[in-house]
Amino acid sequence: MKRIVPLILILCLLLSGCSGVKSAEKTVYAMDTVMDIRLWGEGAEAAAQELEQMLYTLEKTYDATDENSPLSRDALTVEQKTLLTRAEALSRRTGGSFDPRLGGIMKLWGFYDKNYTVPARESLEAAPKTWDLGGIVKGYAGELAVQLLTKTSVAYGILSLGGNVQTYGEKPDGTPWQVGIQDPQGGDPVGILSLNGTMAAVTSGSYQRYFESSGKCYHHIIDPATGCPAESDLVSVTVVSESGVTADALSTALFVMGLERGAEFWRQSTDFEAVFLTAEGKIYATAGAVLSGCEYEVIEK
Ligand code: AMP
Ligand code: MG
Repeated sequence: MKRIVPLILILCLLLSGCSGVKSAEKTVYAMDTVMDIRLWGEGAEAAAQELEQMLYTLEKTYDATDENSPLSRDALTVEQKTLLTRAEALSRRTGGSFDPRLGGIMKLWGFYDKNYTVPARESLEAAPKTWDLGGIVKGYAGELAVQLLTKTSVAYGILSLGGNVQTYGEKPDGTPWQVGIQDPQGGDPVGILSLNGTMAAVTSGSYQRYFESSGKCYHHIIDPATGCPAESDLVSVTVVSESGVTADALSTALFVMGLERGAEFWRQSTDFEAVFLTAEGKIYATAGAVLSGCEYEVIEK
């Protein structure tokens, strides 16, 4: 299995130093991925440390791979349970393309213990519907980070949470945050998204986590209708939203839906924009996405 990080490259971070603004930078390994925290403003160092602890706590709380985690033991606090309620609402909204109860299926494919195998259809059908919030928890981490930062004197910052980017505040020069969309082949970003203020940009891609068996590639985004890796015409979807949880759930769901159904889903929605990379190597962006550095087709309302 290959894991490629960072999934979204953060550009345009040459802001500290010359301005005399206090800043902090921290790299954290959590949730099976490398995360980067960059903050500017008074108390940046202390805030970065708090964020690091928050990430470790989230990782332990919602760890579907650990039978003893609060999630697996059904021992979440009332506040922690609100994420389950939101996940269920997003599952309904997406007609089940986002399904937070694919734990049994993820385990059968070997994504939990990295003992990969192609399960028999009968065992997939019989798999227990246990919670797996892997499709949403990093977006939630971005939301919690914003909540935490609003209580500090940090003026602005950017977090790269393994495929999820969370921006916070406005840069002092007034220019937007610029986030590169990862090239699935690992080259330079295929395009640059501009984000204003506090926003989440989340990418789901078949190249992010997968294994090969008998010459076939099996990735980690499951089509709940089959229990198998989604046979999407996409290689990645990036969703931009004010809500990290929404962006994260929808990036997973739109990947499952594919380009046509995903574009239609966007037309019925008002709370996100999306960039689709197809298996054919084409790029499509919804009308409100601010994308540069590439040729793409605009999806109109
Ligand atoms: P993401 O990278 O956000 O698309 O999330 C993928 C992760 O979410 C997987 O590693 C699983 O833990 C979980 N997952 C896989 N398929 C789905 C799905 N259809 N709906 C919700 N979660 C999923
Ligand atoms: Mg997701």
